[in-house]
Amino acid sequence: MRVRDSRPPFAGLANLSEEQLHRLPTPCYLLDEGQLRRNGEILFGVQQRTGCKILLAQKAFSNFDVYPVLAPYLAGTEASGLYESRLGREELPEKENHVFCAAYRADEFTELLHYADHIVFNSPRQLAKFGPAAKAAGKSIGLRINPECSTQEGHAIYDPCAPGSRLGTTRAQWDAAVAAHPELTALLDGLHFHTLCEQDADALATTLAAVEEKFRDLLPRMKWLNFGGGHHITRPGYDLATLEQCITETQKKYGVQVYLEPGEAWALNAGYLVTTVLDTLCNGETNLAILDMSAACHTPDVIEMPYRPPLLDAGEPEEKPCTIRLGGPTCLAGDVIGDYSFDAPLTEGDKLIFGDMAIYTTCKNNTFNGMPLPPIWALAEDGSCRELVRFGYRDFKMRLGNAAR
Ligand SMILES: *Cc1c(COP(=O)(O)O)cnc(C)c1O
Repeated sequence: MRVRDSRPPFAGLANLSEEQLHRLPTPCYLLDEGQLRRNGEILFGVQQRTGCKILLAQKAFSNFDVYPVLAPYLAGTEASGLYESRLGREELPEKENHVFCAAYRADEFTELLHYADHIVFNSPRQLAKFGPAAKAAGKSIGLRINPECSTQEGHAIYDPCAPGSRLGTTRAQWDAAVAAHPELTALLDGLHFHTLCEQDADALATTLAAVEEKFRDLLPRMKWLNFGGGHHITRPGYDLATLEQCITETQKKYGVQVYLEPGEAWALNAGYLVTTVLDTLCNGETNLAILDMSAACHTPDVIEMPYRPPLLDAGEPEEKPCTIRLGGPTCLAGDVIGDYSFDAPLTEGDKLIFGDMAIYTTCKNNTFNGMPLPPIWALAEDGSCRELVRFGYRDFKMRLGNAAR
């Protein structure tokens, strides 16, 4: 029997019995309802103490079967476009429904008005094109601004403030647009910025100062200010006091309703990917194992971001006696999850459990190489597991042609 690891990504597994674990098919995503609730409670506390509203950014986590666990704690959903907005409206019909998209399509906009009640535009031109119709439909209208303040290093693809970024309107872009179309200002109910990624509250404070420096004159006219996502609020050690100070000071100073729309924070450490060793091999000095999961298909951020996901009972390379490179069964040479060390060599049939596999996983997976999509299960707080959904050959075929033939 494995020794249970109580570090944060695996704390929720304390309730999972060996018997339940062995019932799970592999590969399988396992969503942890207890951890979702604990995250929800932290985010609810912030809302209660400050009066801000916190939305779920569905692009990070949209497993709607477990939305009821988060529902008591969230003010609404945030969407990246038509489908996520519709999902939020269908699954959480009583909650606020916000949408931001870098560019809306004319042929989708009328339908979007059925679902969303806050619509955020990326550019003055989109605001001019769709803003009047949205306003006439009674929507609250926002503009995403770019405070041109980078606070992150390392993950350039996650920095909307990088030079030449297409995301958000800079002060210069806004001034040029208003000079030509002074009526744009009156359309705005709120401003939105999203510049952080897995960051603490000090980066928010720095960003807020830049927002104020660039857009101070607009803020008193706004009803709301949306601080975007990327706040790692539920990570142990996150500086809640600074976050709450940023929120309360901004609300007081400008008379705005502050919104936050994290994705990660809602489902941080609230899921696992359970996988089985299919084969082991050795190439020169390198020991390898092939798992029944694929990084490219089932955890694409491992390759895209890139990062090395936490693995239960495993150490850093060379930390334990046996260092093994873990990879998937696809033909992609780079379908590698990472190098890990173990107390003993892995053997065919061993089960491995990756942590923090709720966010940016189920919503990003794919069937490259004809890989099956893992089923999604839920781990309830009493330790019982249940299947939420399973997928099959049709889910692979239907995206490639007319599978009804
Ligand atoms: C990605 C994104 C979020 C959520 O970001 P997290 O890093 O998951 O908290 C929120 N708002 C917008 C506009 C985004 O693009």
